[in-house]
Amino acid sequence: MEVTALGAARQVGRSAFLLHGQSTKVLLDFGVQMEREPVFPIHVQPKDIDGILLSHAHLDHSGAAPVFYLSEGVDLYTTPPTAEFTRLLIEDFIKVSGFYLPFEYIDLLSMFKRTHYADLYEVFKIGEFTVQFLDAGHIPGSASMIVEADGKRLLYTGDINGAGTMLLNGADYNFGELDAIITESTYALSDHKPRHEVEKEFVDYAREIVEGGGTLLVPAFSVGRAQEIACVLRAAKFPYPVAMDGMALKANEILMRYQEYLKDPKEFRRTLENIDIMENWPQRKRMAKTPSVIIAPAGMLVGGLAVFYNEEIATKDRNGIAIVAFQIPGTPGRTLLEKGIALIRGKPKKVKAQVKRFDFSSHSGRKELFEMLKAVRGSPKVMTVHGEEEYCTKFAADIKEQFGFDAVAPVAGDVIKI
Ligand SMILES: [Zn+2]
Ligand SMILES: [Zn+2]
Repeated sequence: MEVTALGAARQVGRSAFLLHGQSTKVLLDFGVQMEREPVFPIHVQPKDIDGILLSHAHLDHSGAAPVFYLSEGVDLYTTPPTAEFTRLLIEDFIKVSGFYLPFEYIDLLSMFKRTHYADLYEVFKIGEFTVQFLDAGHIPGSASMIVEADGKRLLYTGDINGAGTMLLNGADYNFGELDAIITESTYALSDHKPRHEVEKEFVDYAREIVEGGGTLLVPAFSVGRAQEIACVLRAAKFPYPVAMDGMALKANEILMRYQEYLKDPKEFRRTLENIDIMENWPQRKRMAKTPSVIIAPAGMLVGGLAVFYNEEIATKDRNGIAIVAFQIPGTPGRTLLEKGIALIRGKPKKVKAQVKRFDFSSHSGRKELFEMLKAVRGSPKVMTVHGEEEYCTKFAADIKEQFGFDAVAPVAGDVIKI
């Protein structure tokens, strides 16, 4: 086996790896780097690959895959919820960034015609490769994968969260003996605060804002984080109205069909039954003035209904804005967090509402990444990817030192023999 890093090499975006067996070639993810103009992975010809394995729906893993469907296309394999979430996210991507993209909606449709579903733990074959998806705990439907050929076993973690959240179980580390690992390194050098502490801080803040007569806006990613926040509030018996809006509602509908991917389906259903669904503008305007919590995408305020709510909520000092996800530099969410400035009716203004950040990560921190490596049997070759340069290189050095594994932080274009 050989692995070529086509992206996510000493960077967080555009995850894409070419896995080359004796007679079969598959891609592990094919995502974009989210900048003003999306950046694509190193290209490969559709005729040169036998399939794409998609770990989860986030655009930095899925967003470039439709390029293969401008021509004849290739078979794509993923879990059923990931297929549906990918469709939701790429449709939106085409709406927002279509001008910069080489593909259109019709190519996305062709992609879904070539999509094959595999549930977690189902074993399937692509040419000489035997593949199994494992629960990655990152977002609903997300998978790590074991790819086996020629007596060698490779683990691709995708994005992984070992810690478990109110919505999802922690990642499954039942890997068995491995010859190679491609591991994410997003938070390889830092630890997250324990989840229950973050949850408590968030609920306390929500109470403080609402009991002071204010409204709390939670800009949240539509797949996973929005639902998790609602579950956190319900578990804490939060006694005030909780509203949800925008694309998060479409994600709810999809999740209702795949409840077996959730930690506690019953709690999830109860949570959804008790939230206020926003359906029209009078309702939204009223809710923005009601002491309540409003959960709305986009998570970094780049678009969606969070932008509308932010304009309503940011101008009053009794209100609050809870940032519950990492904010990419240059996004409106990052500017709000760092400078307290937001666009209000087209003009940058100092916001009056309180802005507070909460570390609800969906990636393993350093502690969980090392726990994962401890669960590995054998002496695998390790590739540290999906992290800033310093994170990937230092993580590789730490793995060498602590476990004695041969670990490298590839750069884009590198070919690693297994
Ligand atoms: Zn992800
Ligand atoms: Zn990612």
